[in-house]
Amino acid sequence: MGGDQAVSSLKGVGPAIAANLNKLGVSTLQDVLFHLPLRYVDKTTVTSIRSLRHGDSRVVVGKIDGVQLTYGRRRSLIIGVTDETGQMLFRMFFFSRAQQRALQPGQWIWLFGEARLGSKGMEMIHPEYRVSADIPESPTSNSLTPVYPTTDGVSQVIWMKITTQVLANITENVEELLPLGILDKLALPHLVDALREIHRPAKSSLDDEGAIPVAMRERLVFEELLAQHLSLRQLREQREQKSAVALNNTSDLQHGYLSSLPFDLTKAQERVAVEVSLDLERSLPMNRLVQGDVGSGKTVVAALALLKAVASSGQAAFMAPTELLAEQHLATLSKWFVPLGIRVGWLSGKQKKSERTTVLEFLLSGEIQVVVGTHALFQDGVEFNRLLLIIIDEQHRFGVEQRLALRNKGMKGKEPHQLVMTATPIPRTLAMAFYADIEVSSIDELPPGRIPIDTVVVSDNRRPELIGRVKDACAKGQQAYWVCPLIDESGVLQAQAATDTVELLMVEMPNIKVALVHGRMKSAEKGVVMQRFRDGETQLLVATTVIEVGVDVPNASLMVIENAERLGLSQLHQLRGRVGRGNQKSVCLLMYQGKLGQNARQRLALMRETNDGFKIARKDLEMRGPGEMLGTRQTGELGLRIANVIRDQHWLVVVEKIAGELLQNHRGVIEPLTKRWLGHRGVYGNV
Ligand code: ADP
Ligand code: MG
Repeated sequence: MGGDQAVSSLKGVGPAIAANLNKLGVSTLQDVLFHLPLRYVDKTTVTSIRSLRHGDSRVVVGKIDGVQLTYGRRRSLIIGVTDETGQMLFRMFFFSRAQQRALQPGQWIWLFGEARLGSKGMEMIHPEYRVSADIPESPTSNSLTPVYPTTDGVSQVIWMKITTQVLANITENVEELLPLGILDKLALPHLVDALREIHRPAKSSLDDEGAIPVAMRERLVFEELLAQHLSLRQLREQREQKSAVALNNTSDLQHGYLSSLPFDLTKAQERVAVEVSLDLERSLPMNRLVQGDVGSGKTVVAALALLKAVASSGQAAFMAPTELLAEQHLATLSKWFVPLGIRVGWLSGKQKKSERTTVLEFLLSGEIQVVVGTHALFQDGVEFNRLLLIIIDEQHRFGVEQRLALRNKGMKGKEPHQLVMTATPIPRTLAMAFYADIEVSSIDELPPGRIPIDTVVVSDNRRPELIGRVKDACAKGQQAYWVCPLIDESGVLQAQAATDTVELLMVEMPNIKVALVHGRMKSAEKGVVMQRFRDGETQLLVATTVIEVGVDVPNASLMVIENAERLGLSQLHQLRGRVGRGNQKSVCLLMYQGKLGQNARQRLALMRETNDGFKIARKDLEMRGPGEMLGTRQTGELGLRIANVIRDQHWLVVVEKIAGELLQNHRGVIEPLTKRWLGHRGVYGNV
């Protein structure tokens, strides 16, 4: 098909331009068609000089009434242009002799450019222009001029030339892949019509904001979301070809464990535990995401799954994104499992070599049944005897490749089951679009007796008052966090800020035992600090955002977050989740510096209004976009070209249904469809 031809087959596209186009992901004629304009400009209407506004891109027609060559800071050619309403200037810094000669007073001139208010009134710098002896003909075309996203070396003029060529043979260059019956049912235009209209819209068809005609955009949005969804469904089909060890369905271990807990599971924990259990008893690899707000008790559910692997004479790995959290899981799981006779091991990057060697031996021999650790778990050289299950906490902190690496450590021909957990809930719409490959369970209930956290937003000039509150809380036997979330890549500044704060606070609260934890401390040191805080030996813990995930100290009931205005919603919610874990009323004080911008004010207000992690996640998504949330930072953006999951969420249910229909009756279109939309970046899915 013509659409597969390289862009270099177009007139005017030599190797240099072709290379630049490739950089934009445009290598074939079909790609040219899917490279959509950012916006349009109207070159069909002439604007009178008097009604020009600064910043408008407009066409002006007038007569040249003066030409002047100036040698100010830069040599420039200034041309005066008048029409019946006024005068403006046309300025050029680069020009040839021939250009200069053609621009003569008395000539007519047609200009298109951005009007700016200069020191001598309205002007255009380097506009597009045409000079003529007679009044220029008014343009006959009724279509608007597209402006394409581009890169150095590919001008808008080039884009016009190449899109015009590809559009001329559009029916050869792009194939309608969606069955006509489906298009009719959804009242969507045909692809060729949509693309034509998008590249060369009629003036009348733009919406109020000058954007692509909605119906035409919808056609492409739908196709893109469909392709995305289909690729995930395919991944799922592939996974269903693989096999895993089916785990035993009953075990005394689980009973022993449950009866040792000082509480009953919540209804939600029970339900999710059953969902996980059923997955594990199948000989297909499990791929399940457990989402539950901070404090909903995900670890207990994970523990039940771990026990199932152990009961089937296998091994399980539990991976967490930070040393601190991994250590805490080690402490919790050891407390629970060691009395049941289970051997729990520990693997981290900061471990002594001799210790690590022993752990690696015991993993290979199968002696260690449950191993807890950080990124160290998926590295080369870590080998298991019989790895049946992997659990990944706070999965959005890991990249896809890292999760895959761990999954490849299973037994020959058998994939380990995989459970990932997150406290950053994925809104339903997103889950449908991007987690088609994964089952989702929600622990949508907190353990009983939790008292909602009060959140207060305060300016940092009320710091003395806050210090008073910390003192009061500690006097009552409670504990507090003081978070200094300075953002910097290396963590050096963060650590410094926290260190400075500790010194200040120690002076201001001489009777309170203050400790410090930050990311640049040695892990053993961190462990000691956390343990002492957990044991109540220290009352106030000054920390960087290292405590963001998972840290669990129920007696801590007060949290101060400095510079809260700099943090994202989900991060604030995570941090706040460190308090409100016990049986007393907790308070979170969000301190901000200076004057709040509108966005920051909105974010902090939302934190004050709600403790609902789902609501916060949805809002966060709207304000920041989905990349962060899905953990795709490492693998590039979601890669949607046209669709926007928030704006276009109304399509997602339809997409799911139509995808099913295509998989049933039109399998032939699936491959070209996914290739068209995802071919250039490969499909990762959320494995
Ligand atoms: P998260 O979902 O944030 O990982 P955790 O698993 O750390 O939550 O649990 C938070 C706290 O709640 C822990 O102290 C845990 O022991 C406790 N917990 C978990 N489940 C229950 C329950 N059903 N009833 C009471 N407390 C519970
Ligand atoms: Mg947790």
